[in-house]
Amino acid sequence: SYVGVHSTGFSDFLLKPELSRAIVDCGFEHPSEGTKYSLSTQSPSLDKTSHIEESNNERWMKDTRSRQQQKLQRLSVQQQCIPQAIIGNDVICQAKSGLGKTAVFVLATLQQIEPVDGEVSVVVVCHTRELAFQIRNEYQRFSKYMPKIRTEVFYGGVPERENKELLNNKEKCPHIVVGTPGRLSYLVNNKALNPDHVKHFVLDECDKMLETDMRADIQEIFRKIPQHKQVMMFTATLSKEMRSLCKKFMKNPLEIYVDDEGKLTLHGLLQHYVSLKDEQKNRKLNDLLDTLEFNQVVIFVKSAQRANMLQKILTACNFPSICIHARMPQEQRISNYKEFKDNKQRIMVATDVFGRGIDVERVNIVINYDIPDSPDSYLHRVGRAGRFGTKGLAITFVSTEEDKNTLESVQARFEVEITELPDQINVDAY
Ligand code: ADP
Ligand code: MG
Repeated sequence: SYVGVHSTGFSDFLLKPELSRAIVDCGFEHPSEGTKYSLSTQSPSLDKTSHIEESNNERWMKDTRSRQQQKLQRLSVQQQCIPQAIIGNDVICQAKSGLGKTAVFVLATLQQIEPVDGEVSVVVVCHTRELAFQIRNEYQRFSKYMPKIRTEVFYGGVPERENKELLNNKEKCPHIVVGTPGRLSYLVNNKALNPDHVKHFVLDECDKMLETDMRADIQEIFRKIPQHKQVMMFTATLSKEMRSLCKKFMKNPLEIYVDDEGKLTLHGLLQHYVSLKDEQKNRKLNDLLDTLEFNQVVIFVKSAQRANMLQKILTACNFPSICIHARMPQEQRISNYKEFKDNKQRIMVATDVFGRGIDVERVNIVINYDIPDSPDSYLHRVGRAGRFGTKGLAITFVSTEEDKNTLESVQARFEVEITELPDQINVDAY
């Protein structure tokens, strides 16, 4: 049994029984833990032919098994943060993609919450609507044995009236609100969301929100919530300047940082590039989708227009796909997100709205059809594959000098080697 090697299990956190039960149902056996990354936990099969004959399903089951093994050896973000977070301490936590930061604040707030009808006591803010939706679902998963707890998600693109109706109705008013900065600050400013009873304030992808114009909204909400509150912030990327800005919102926080940016690299992830001209990209993408074995793949492009175009081309080439970007109706965005999350679609063409936080377990390949605009953004995008320490493959198309420079700075900063895509890759490698 692997249990013996674990210094801490979820049971050591002394969580409410209804939470512990939900954790078991979610398939969380142990908190993410340890700094070891053991290569030996990767699929041991080197027999190529046997893989070729395997059906997708068998492959998926095998992946799941190795994933379960790998789950036992993850980094310690949950072990470090949960004990502090559940007693109400402020937390600022930087940890690499896919290691389970969400569970830290979801469990910590559910553990502490004492629901009062008509009162919002937890506010979680994140940078995109799909991420808000995803976090809200995580709350529902973990609160399934807490029938009194209500959680709602509020973001733009939905009539404000609908949000207000919920907030004004004592029987329907959520105890936990997840949302995006603009909509939440609107609701607070218009006295629809009463901030007076909020005791926990969480920022997921905090650096992203604080470095953009979302910052004003965040500050606005923050100021209106009573001073005595727990503040928690999470991200994979956090510059020194951003750290001190974050800390201005907190009191004596537990601080978890990754000082050595090389440690942000996902070691289960194989990273390659392809040099080509822009007009060769479609052809190459077609080849890749034909030859690579993917469970699900995300293809990143730089604009909504390019996302629409590429999605049409792919579909015409017999690669059924969907896309997601900020210039489509809100309902469509969420329904596309759901289809992909539920594995009803295997190919997602996306802009950076899908680049951070989104967790789709079966994504094993990320393709940067257009290079991201910064090393941080590269790190987040490729982190959509290889969730929770699993294997994956990231391929970046490089077509200009500028693209090359971006890739250089990614390699220098995160101490990762991104080599030219070889003619063949063993499917065991991703
Ligand atoms: P992060 O926010 O750190 O990038 P997430 O919170 O999205 O990562 O978690 C990544 C995936 O890992 C999710 O699918 C989540 O359900 C899973 N996960 C998190 N913690 C555990 C755990 N202790 N055991 C098993 N799976 C976990
Ligand atoms: Mg996250």
